Amino acid sequence: MNLYKCFLTKNNCYKACQTIVPKGIMVHSTGANNPNLRRYVGPDDGLLGPASSSNWNTAKPGGISVCVHAFIGKLADGSIATYQTLPWDMRGWHAGGSANNTHIGFEICEDGLKGIDYFKKVYDEAVELCVYLCKQFSLTEKDIICHSEGAKLGIASNHSDVMHWFPKHGKNMDYFREDVKKLLIVGEAHFGIYTVVKGDSLWKIAAARLRNGARYSEIKALNGLTSDIIQPGQKLKIPK
Ligand SMILES: [Zn+2]
Repeated sequence: MNLYKCFLTKNNCYKACQTIVPKGIMVHSTGANNPNLRRYVGPDDGLLGPASSSNWNTAKPGGISVCVHAFIGKLADGSIATYQTLPWDMRGWHAGGSANNTHIGFEICEDGLKGIDYFKKVYDEAVELCVYLCKQFSLTEKDIICHSEGAKLGIASNHSDVMHWFPKHGKNMDYFREDVKKLLIVGEAHFGIYTVVKGDSLWKIAAARLRNGARYSEIKALNGLTSDIIQPGQKLKIPK
């Protein structure tokens, strides 16, 4: 995954600054033939290229009234990237329904829907982004839906994305979830689980399990810990 950050701080959704506890992920596609990230994301960081005048880093009135957590599309040099545009736990305005309160939403920039090379690249990027988010928020592939599936569930507005696009290239959301699941399983094979007991410290666990106390920072990073405090009963992933 080729992940960058460019928060859309001028968008009213960002300014509203409401938080959510992510319970799922909603996959969108833009519905317009323009695969360039600079159409939606700005300002230019030297990779995006000059932002379009109708980019989403603008406020209502006169600007954009919706916002997603990320876009996947083309950089100025034509390569594929993901741009995170809101903090993942900030409430987005992407679903047109109650899924805004529960789901991280991202847009895949559409081309004319016919390019198979472009589709393969952005599809793989979207799978990797979902794997990354599933790990970060303890979600599984079952927690991933697209906008049109959200509409059927009554938690999103009546849009057809991404099912007007994926089937043109032999994919659908079931394949997508299956591809996320495969990578999640591979990821799990790379670490073991250790349950913290009384008297443990990260250093002690690293010394016992990794034969080097100084490697405690690897355990910290793998588990996304921001402090050294651990509690008995807590389950930690340990690198293999
Ligand atoms: Zn959508």
